Amino acid sequence: MTLTEPVPGSAEWFARACQVTPGGVNSPVRAFRSVGGTPRFMVSGKGATITDVDGNTYVDLVGSWGPMILGHAHPAVLEAVGTAAAKGLSFGTPGTGEVLLAEEIVARVAPVEQVRLVSSGTEATMSAIRLARGFTGRPAVVKFAGCYHGHVDALLAAAGSGVATFGLPDSAGVTAATTAEVIVLPYNDIEAVRAAFAANPGRIAAVITEAAAANMGVVPPLPGFNAALAEITRADGALLISDEVMTGFRLSRSGMFGLDGAVEGWQPDLMTFGKVIGGGLPVGAFGGRADVMALLAPNGPVYQAGTLSGNPIATAAGLATLRGCDDAVYRHLDETALRVGDLAAAALAEAGVPHRLQRAGNLFSIFFADAPVTNYDEARQQHTTAFAAFFHSMLASGVYLPPSAYEAWFVSAAHDDAALDRIAAALPAAAVAAGAALSV
Ligand SMILES: *Cc1c(COP(=O)(O)O)cnc(C)c1O
Repeated sequence: MTLTEPVPGSAEWFARACQVTPGGVNSPVRAFRSVGGTPRFMVSGKGATITDVDGNTYVDLVGSWGPMILGHAHPAVLEAVGTAAAKGLSFGTPGTGEVLLAEEIVARVAPVEQVRLVSSGTEATMSAIRLARGFTGRPAVVKFAGCYHGHVDALLAAAGSGVATFGLPDSAGVTAATTAEVIVLPYNDIEAVRAAFAANPGRIAAVITEAAAANMGVVPPLPGFNAALAEITRADGALLISDEVMTGFRLSRSGMFGLDGAVEGWQPDLMTFGKVIGGGLPVGAFGGRADVMALLAPNGPVYQAGTLSGNPIATAAGLATLRGCDDAVYRHLDETALRVGDLAAAALAEAGVPHRLQRAGNLFSIFFADAPVTNYDEARQQHTTAFAAFFHSMLASGVYLPPSAYEAWFVSAAHDDAALDRIAAALPAAAVAAGAALSV
C-alpha cells in the first residue's frame, strides 16, 4: 500500500483545528512544522497500528510518546478502565486504585520509598524541584542542555523535545528571574558539573537529568556519568533528581535505573515518572527518599496538590499497563527495538547515507550526522532536512515515525512480525529519499 498526500479528511480537520486552537494542535510537535505537510488526525488504534480520519492505517513508532507500551486498545487496559469508569469518574477523596499504583511503583524501583501521584510529567518535575529546594533550603538547580523536563518555566532553558524541534533557545514568557537560579550545563560533561559545584558552594539544591537523554534524539549517558552525578550531589548535600518520565517502566521493570544504578550500586534521591504509568491516561509521579518526601504537605511545609491527582480511571489504566509489563514484554521490546534499529541502519548504509543509530536500552533514534552525538551541540549538527524526507517517505509507506529529528522511536509489545515487515518494506525508499535530500 502506498499512501500519498492529499489526505482530505486530515486537511479538513486541521483547517478547523487551526481556527480554534493555536497551530491546530495541543502540543507543538504534533503540528509537523519541522517536517512539513499535513498532520494526520487519528481516530483509532489497535495493537501496533493507528488509523487516521481518511482510513489510512500506519504502523505506529510513537505510541503516544511512550504510554502505549502494550499496544493500542489493549484488552486488559480497556477492561480495567471500563470497570473503574462504571463506578464513577472522580471523588476527590482517597481511593484504593492510587494506593495499588503507588505500591506497584515502590515495589519496582528501589530508590522510591514513597511516591506522590500527579497528572503529568511536567507536574512531577516541577514538584520535585520545589521539594528539593524545600529540603535543602538552597536555591539553584543544575540542568543539562537538550534535556526536556516538561514545560516547567524554570526548566525551559535550553530544553529538548519541541523546544529543540523549533530551534528555540528558550521560551518567551519565562522571565530572567525564573531562570536566574538554573545553571545549564552540557550533557555528559562531568567536569562542567564539578566546576559548577565548585563555583556555587552550598547553593545548589539539585541536579536534574534525564536518566538517559531522549528528547534531543537518543543520547545515552556516557559510562559512569549518572554515577558521578550521584556522587557529586551526595558529597555536596544536594539532591540528584533522575527524570524517568520517558524511560521509567520502559527500559526495564525499573526503567533506566534498572540498567545503571541498580547494576552499579548508586541511587538518585528523587525520581520523576509519567507516560507509561498512565497507560494512555494523564498520570505522573515523583518519589524517592522517605526523609525527603516527608517534607510534602500535609506532613511537611512543601505544598503540592491536585484536584484530579490519583484519579481512579487514570490509575486503573496505569496499573493494568504496569501489570502487563512482565519480563516477556521487556524481552520483546528489547528484541524489537534492536531489529527495527538495525533494519533502519542497514537501509541507510545500503543507500550510502551517513547516519548514527543511538540507543538507550530499547529507546533509539537515528541522527543524520557524521559523528557520534553525546550532547545537544552535537545533536544540532544533524541534517534535519534529510530526516524530513525520510519521515515523509516512511509515512507514505504507512509507517508513523515521530515527526521530529529530535525525538526517540518507540516500539510496543504489539509490534509483531507483520509490523516489522511493513517497516522493512518502507525503509529502502525512505533511505534513498534521505540521501537525495542530503545531496540537494
Ligand atoms: C515527556 C517528558 C516530560 C513531560 O511530561 P508531560 O506529561 O508531557 O508533561 C518530562 N520529562 C521527560 C524526560 C519527558 O520525556
